[in-house]
Amino acid sequence: MESDRRSYGAVEDQRVIAPTEQGKEIDKKLDRHLNYEFGGPWGVTAMMTGFPLLMYYLWICLQFYDGQIVYPSSLGDVKPFILRMWGHVRDDATPTPYAFAIYSTFFFYQLLIAFIIPGYKQEGLPVPSLNYKTLMYNCNALGCFYTTVVTVACLHFSGTFRLTEVIDHFGEIMSVAMIYGFAVSFGAYFITVLRGQQIRMSGNFAYDVFMGAVLNPRIGSVDLKMWAEVRIPWNILFLISLAGASKQYDEYGYVTPNMWFMVLATFLYLNACCKAEECIPQTWDMFHEKWGFMVIFWNFAGVPFTYCYSILYMATHDPAKYKFSTLGYVALYATLLTAYYIFDTSMSQKSRFRMQMQGTYKIRWTFPQLPWGTIENPKYIQTAHGNRLLIDGWWKYARKPNYSADLVQSLSWALVVGTASPIPYFYPVFFITVLVHRCGRDFERCALKYGEDWEEYCKIVPYRFIPYVY
Ligand code: NDP
Repeated sequence: MESDRRSYGAVEDQRVIAPTEQGKEIDKKLDRHLNYEFGGPWGVTAMMTGFPLLMYYLWICLQFYDGQIVYPSSLGDVKPFILRMWGHVRDDATPTPYAFAIYSTFFFYQLLIAFIIPGYKQEGLPVPSLNYKTLMYNCNALGCFYTTVVTVACLHFSGTFRLTEVIDHFGEIMSVAMIYGFAVSFGAYFITVLRGQQIRMSGNFAYDVFMGAVLNPRIGSVDLKMWAEVRIPWNILFLISLAGASKQYDEYGYVTPNMWFMVLATFLYLNACCKAEECIPQTWDMFHEKWGFMVIFWNFAGVPFTYCYSILYMATHDPAKYKFSTLGYVALYATLLTAYYIFDTSMSQKSRFRMQMQGTYKIRWTFPQLPWGTIENPKYIQTAHGNRLLIDGWWKYARKPNYSADLVQSLSWALVVGTASPIPYFYPVFFITVLVHRCGRDFERCALKYGEDWEEYCKIVPYRFIPYVY
């Protein structure tokens, strides 16, 4: 049922897709700097200074003010308030040599094992700026995850390095992570410009550091952008949850169901990223976003040291403050598992569809493979660009089913402390802002890329996040 320009089909049609000449022209345009995002140079400068300050402020509220929001009591209290805040940072978040040793050992150990552990080989999407060459990705995150867990268990149980140190020295380690975030962002920018590998540059220094200069940073077999996206933030989060559980066990002789919930939630997320790492090259972060401050800082410092607030709260506060009824626990766990199922299967449906289109799809037997993770003969729209848009599986109900499910997961990470503290709600509130903004940027780009086909797609799948709601 093909027409000249736009057609619909099912994947029994096994031709490997390739961009048309018209598609290539559009891709060229999309690889140029078109307009400023994130409020331009001023907006990104505010974010580069604001992110670290916000992280310190939230940590101080959580750690020193019983998890409550603090603010100056009057205009006259503004200066003393700032001095009080600074005092907490100076006394408890100065980056000590010990904190440098902890973060750096973890960081370089992750890099080392990424080089040496064998992995599943996955071909990425054709890269327009490399004349549609594809890059090979060595997907060894799962092997590295297991190796990390065994190493950390040996260190913890032998008493060489007890995991609870991460909770006890949280502020200092967070400061070191921020320093890494800044250093690597500026380093990546200068190295890229010196090597002449920059693309989509605006010419404004602050903006280009924030958005990044390089699209595919690599050292040998390691794709640094993909490595940094999974190995640093999600491994640290999982280890922080184990540290929280260990801290509770030391203190009370048991681990609360709330803390187990966070161990499960962080495990599921990390395991999803690792067991389906071959799907990551198909995501927007890999094929479009450059390796700049926005991605680097958030991977090295933002995600691991802000998404964990509920764990930090529970590790340092009386369990009576966040105890639920049995029904409450059942609802919480059921919400997480349902959201996880939709997140996992919607991501794999689209990524595998894209691999099928490219002729690179192979079954990878990692645990767990969930039902409906791959759609047999999926329905799609054939665009004039050459690409195809999936309109089947979860993708017939909404244009971002993966975002909705991910948002519910983030909400459950905060609900786990109930109303004991507002600080853990930072994650879902921040995340919804990020995803709505990211969705807007993505749809703008897709509208440019696919033109009338995108309009047609939006008619067939009219809702963004939740059918009949939004
Ligand atoms: P998507 O997986 O939605 O990727 C968007 C791209 O996919 C589009 O640009 C388009 O690319 C292509 N596309 C869109 N719709 C279709 C379709 N129907 N059929 C085929 N291709 C389509 O989003 P992301 O890559 O942004 O997200 C990946 C995941 O990462 C999400 O689940 C998100 O929640 C998660 N995430 C988590 C974060 C965290 O901090 N926890 C932060 C950011 C993301 P093309 O132009 O090639 O067609």
